[in-house]
Amino acid sequence: MAKEFNFKKVLVFSPHPDDLDFGCAGTVAKLTSEGGEVVYCIITNGEKGIHKVKKFPKEIIAMREKEQRDAAKVVGVNKVIFLREKDGELEHTRALIKKIVKAIRQVKPDIVFSLDPANLNFDSFGRFHRDHRVTAEAVFDAIYPAAGSIAFFSELEKSGILPHQIQGAWFFSAAKPDTFIDISRTIDKKVEALRRHEGQINDMANLEKWIRSRAQDAGKKKKMKYAEAFRSLTF
Ligand SMILES: [Zn+2]
Repeated sequence: MAKEFNFKKVLVFSPHPDDLDFGCAGTVAKLTSEGGEVVYCIITNGEKGIHKVKKFPKEIIAMREKEQRDAAKVVGVNKVIFLREKDGELEHTRALIKKIVKAIRQVKPDIVFSLDPANLNFDSFGRFHRDHRVTAEAVFDAIYPAAGSIAFFSELEKSGILPHQIQGAWFFSAAKPDTFIDISRTIDKKVEALRRHEGQINDMANLEKWIRSRAQDAGKKKKMKYAEAFRSLTF
């Protein structure tokens, strides 16, 4: 395992299918290629984020889940949990936090990857999509203090789902990153994973250019050809 990874098992939360591929698929591919284990948890169905085809929501949901499963396989991830919340209408509720806590307690990761709850600048439409903000905050509330505390969601304990304390969190797409992972050897896999989200992508050639230039920018400071950036928090 590369020295930047002092953990083995990661649970990645994503508001929609594809957000995590944009944010951290290169790091995930690196982790799994070095013997790490990664599980994905997708919060909403993403049934509204479709450009290419006109379909019924049920068909879109099935299509996006298949695309996400295929994208996961490209980077060595075999397990994807779908929480199936409504796209675009995510609410920060006890019920949502409980679903997230349940996933953490069942998967028992060393650390969690998620969107950064500190991103609140509202300076980009895509980045500050409602589901992104709500996911970031709800995951934060789930990882501290709920997931590791017996005082929260005691009803889960009755069904054998016991508290699990994670070691920390890495936030992708962070406005102020402090952790940089060299993905020069896995950027092709990241692009390949993003290709699997066919229903989302209008112009793959341009998207690939954008992905590569964003990864170049992230790597510049650390003299890496391509990187992904995170803000990390340790307990
Ligand atoms: Zn999204």
